[in-house]
Amino acid sequence: MTDANVDVVVVGAGHNGLICAAYLARAGLDVIVVEQNDVAGGALISSEWQGHVLEHGAVEHTAVLASGVIDELGLEDLGLAYRTRDVAAIHLFGDGTQVTIGRSVESTADSIAAISIRDARAWTELSERSEPLLRAFAIASRGWVPPMSVATRLARTIGGRDADALVELVQMSVLDLAMRWFENPHVRALAIFRASFLGLPPWAPGTANAFLLTTGGHGRRLGRPLGGSRAFVAALTAAVTGRGGVVRCGFRVESVERLGAGWTVRSTAGEQIRARRAVVSAIPPQDFVLRLLAPPELVPTSSRRRLEAVEIVASNISQLTVAAALDTSSCVPTFGDPESDQSMLWLLSDPSAAVDSYTAISLGLVPPSPGTLVTFPTSVDPGLAPSGAATMWANAVTAREVQGRTWAQAAGEATEGIWRTIDACLPDVRSHVVHEVLTSPSDLTALTGADNPGNHVAPTAAQWLGRRPTRRMGNYATPIDGIFVTGAGTHPGGGINGASGRACAQAVLRSIGSHRGMRRLGRAGAIARQIGASIGAARDLRAPPQVCVTDIGEDRRFR
Ligand SMILES: Cc1cc2nc3c(=O)[nH]c(=O)nc-3n(C[C@H](O)[C@H](O)[C@H](O)COP(=O)(O)OP(=O)(O)OC[C@H]3O[C@@H](n4cnc5c(N)ncnc54)[C@H](O)[C@@H]3O)c2cc1C
Repeated sequence: MTDANVDVVVVGAGHNGLICAAYLARAGLDVIVVEQNDVAGGALISSEWQGHVLEHGAVEHTAVLASGVIDELGLEDLGLAYRTRDVAAIHLFGDGTQVTIGRSVESTADSIAAISIRDARAWTELSERSEPLLRAFAIASRGWVPPMSVATRLARTIGGRDADALVELVQMSVLDLAMRWFENPHVRALAIFRASFLGLPPWAPGTANAFLLTTGGHGRRLGRPLGGSRAFVAALTAAVTGRGGVVRCGFRVESVERLGAGWTVRSTAGEQIRARRAVVSAIPPQDFVLRLLAPPELVPTSSRRRLEAVEIVASNISQLTVAAALDTSSCVPTFGDPESDQSMLWLLSDPSAAVDSYTAISLGLVPPSPGTLVTFPTSVDPGLAPSGAATMWANAVTAREVQGRTWAQAAGEATEGIWRTIDACLPDVRSHVVHEVLTSPSDLTALTGADNPGNHVAPTAAQWLGRRPTRRMGNYATPIDGIFVTGAGTHPGGGINGASGRACAQAVLRSIGSHRGMRRLGRAGAIARQIGASIGAARDLRAPPQVCVTDIGEDRRFR
């Protein structure tokens, strides 16, 4: 593919890069997505072992189901089918305690009431208070993404005293919230554990936000695709190629150089592609802007300094997965109905493990029994294993750097730690493992190219919303004309949500389509239009919660 000439090159075929490219192709642009690996998907990673499809990265597709992306890109017509459920999660403890996060606030409160009536009431009150959070998040994902300080001021002005209380809650650490709102150690541990996907220690300010998405998120449908995460990647790839785009794997980008009005994207193998209008980074933004863009003087000094100061990995926290093939499905736990059987299991051998893991990690140690998320993909799609067999996916936080050892040396201890937790809560599973694969933090970095696989940039409170990854790049455009950023390092961050890929496509289309009119108005005009879009979205505040719905018209044509 030497000397190809297209409108837009997207660097990185994670789901955000593919979604961005699919929207751009749909709008009539010539698009190529280039990917360093031999397969697309980024953190959606799977492999096969003797007829078992093993998941090593993301499995749960929650946010994208509410995003509108699946309908807008016609992914069901391309063969994608989801099995959805209302039961969000089942929390299990080593002493037999069980709490179900159900389809309604009432059902969850009933489950909590079995261990603490006071905490069941507190859950109900928190649910009422945090319910607007998802809607606020949706608004912040529709047009202009405000910085946290502006969002806070807006919320207080529009929402009055109620918003004030919610803002206070959102800014707390989840540890503080758990201690102030709940009395029971299991419920406290559950709250802390639910914030774990942020990759921040539970004492970090703002981590309460992640837990409040649970209390405020009852009624959201959750789900997973039949065929596993790779079915989603296949449908996205088809959405790009079906509209004339190209997904080119095995192309590791070495540099992106300004050439006249466009850009030349070069691979490590010496191939080059010319982008006439734009280049989109769908890889960690700091890697793209600081390492790939040439000449370096293109990046204003202030932007460079801000990006250099971005926190990538917080408190040495990373994650790992253990994927296993099981010789029988009869060892897979059941909970009385298919939706519960398909839900995510959140295992803690002991409530104190919810906090202890982070102490170990910050000391550079492998946590001895970390809180572990477990699910059995074959409960959603039995076709992922030979008849009568099953698969398991387990995921936990762990140390990015292990003191005095490489990850290859620490792998055995880490795998044993995960099994210690699983054995405590699900004692029948381990003896049926016929094959297992540990994917360590360093494996995940090698597979995704990201020092922080999953989030790209630490989701600290200072790096939220319109400051993700930095204030000047918080709305997918950058100070460099023709360069855009998407992916987990931009708003709304990690997770299979697709919102960033779509919002970035919107920014590219706005930039290209508005070159004549908007250029005259300059940056102020662009910001005014973005604010207009957000105000429009704010009118939907009363609409049922939906995460990240934006409006990208198919009727826009640029060629
Ligand atoms: C172990 C694990 C489990 C997770 N589980 C869940 C889950 O169950 N549910 C959920 O919602 N989220 C989950 N997440 C988070 C979610 O998977 C990620 O946030 C999301 O997939 C990030 O997508 P992305 O497209 O932004 O970036 P990525 O998926 O990181 O994709 C970036 C792509 O860019 C490519 N690339 C990098 N550098 C170059 C280069 N120089 N040239 C060419 N290509 C390059 C990479 O190879 C990669 O394919 C999980 C993450 C991990 C790591």
